Amino acid sequence: MRTSGEQIWRNEKQKIEEVALKLQLENNIINEFTHFKRDFGFVIRLERDNGDIEHIEGWRVQHVNPYDTGRRPYKGGFMRGMSVSRELCRAKAAWMTWKCALIGPMEEERIPFGGAKGGLRCNPRHYSLREKRQQMEKVAKAINPIIGIAKDSLGPDAAVDAEDIRAFVTAYAELNQDKGIPCGAIATGKPLENCGGGCPGRLLATGRGMHYTYEALKKLLSSFAHLPKKPRALVQGFGNVGSAYVALAESFGITIVGVSDVLGGVYNASGIDAKELAEHNAKTGSVINFSEAETLKNGEFLHAPCDILVLAATEAVLTGANADGVQALIVLEGANGPTLPEAQQNLSERGIIVIPDILANAGGVTVSYFEWCQDMQGIFWTEKQINQLLKNYMIGGAKRTIRFAEEFNTDLRTGAYLAAFAHCAPAVRKKHGWTKSPQSLF
Ligand code: NAD
Repeated sequence: MRTSGEQIWRNEKQKIEEVALKLQLENNIINEFTHFKRDFGFVIRLERDNGDIEHIEGWRVQHVNPYDTGRRPYKGGFMRGMSVSRELCRAKAAWMTWKCALIGPMEEERIPFGGAKGGLRCNPRHYSLREKRQQMEKVAKAINPIIGIAKDSLGPDAAVDAEDIRAFVTAYAELNQDKGIPCGAIATGKPLENCGGGCPGRLLATGRGMHYTYEALKKLLSSFAHLPKKPRALVQGFGNVGSAYVALAESFGITIVGVSDVLGGVYNASGIDAKELAEHNAKTGSVINFSEAETLKNGEFLHAPCDILVLAATEAVLTGANADGVQALIVLEGANGPTLPEAQQNLSERGIIVIPDILANAGGVTVSYFEWCQDMQGIFWTEKQINQLLKNYMIGGAKRTIRFAEEFNTDLRTGAYLAAFAHCAPAVRKKHGWTKSPQSLF
């Protein structure tokens, strides 16, 4: 049975309390982190191609913004899926807060955003392109009162692509044309084609950031020394994140041995050609039946032999029931929240290192930040410059994570949370004029 959004949000609140205790943060801060600024629900009425009207529920949650809203926005993706719920949006919004507070090249320089997330509860496979674009137009209308370029800016997340974002931005611009402000920064992950206003490198940014993170940790941690020179990666999920990771793997010295999507997986111990697999997926709509590999059922896929298990599909896929079969030395979280706490415990006890989501997949929001800056300033970077900046930001996040994990003798996930809280707590106090409790370490 799938883990509910309610359970995921409960787990997140427990994690926040556990980490806050280590830093001896006061109740004001704990309450701020375990709540949210706004939790906005809405319903859109979609006109289906057959003339039916369908009511679809959606949410936009703004978690914590350590900066002044109006100057620095909340930031976070928008998704489609049957598991989307108010509580899932809350948990994912909180992860955005932590990512922004963690990632940055230098101590004082982080991604200056609060965390947000939104989504529609629907099955993305059920809609035509026209219906999907209309969904985004209706979402723009529904959340228009609570968003803005310096208030809350969207991005793509699960089952939302660049053309969805274009439809959203166009609708938002039409709704707000009388205000006389440029609207590009209302969302990032826009397409580059046909003057879409996108940022070079954004499409591959999450996957590229995962490679940069892995490389930084490998350089800095002796526990990575036992990994082979050319590690074998097994990748669950072949959407925005998974396909980008796979496309770049060879250039980072990694052999892809298996890839899966919602329909099943394919595996070849001698390696899978990324380009051929992408072509097969584009033609058939799935990775299954790829001729150069054996087919695996989703249940057995996560247990196939590999050095790095890349989770790039969805939340709550590694559980207490299936973690034991994982053969990897490293679990790299491209998805948000793919490892449940009981699975994390199992992996840690077996010496398997988990590179946590809030660090590993933050490349997406990092390049979204660059795209937001471009739109706000009208100054543009090349793809080479964007990738170099991304690398610097991810290395900063990785170093910070290690520093806190070592100082508190804990795992990388807790280290990443500690580093994020150590930045966020003082900023939140400052924003609200609260004084620091004498016990608090940060
Ligand atoms: P997507 O919808 O583009 O792709 C998801 C992929 O996972 C698809 O191939 C789908 O078939 C597969 N999948 C879904 N459920 C599965 C299951 N139970 N077993 C196996 N495969 C399954 O989504 P995405 O944008 O790539 O996002 C994936 C994850 O990464 C999400 O958790 C998302 O929040 C996170 N994320 C996305 C971004 C981004 O920029 N898009 C950035 C950071 C994190």
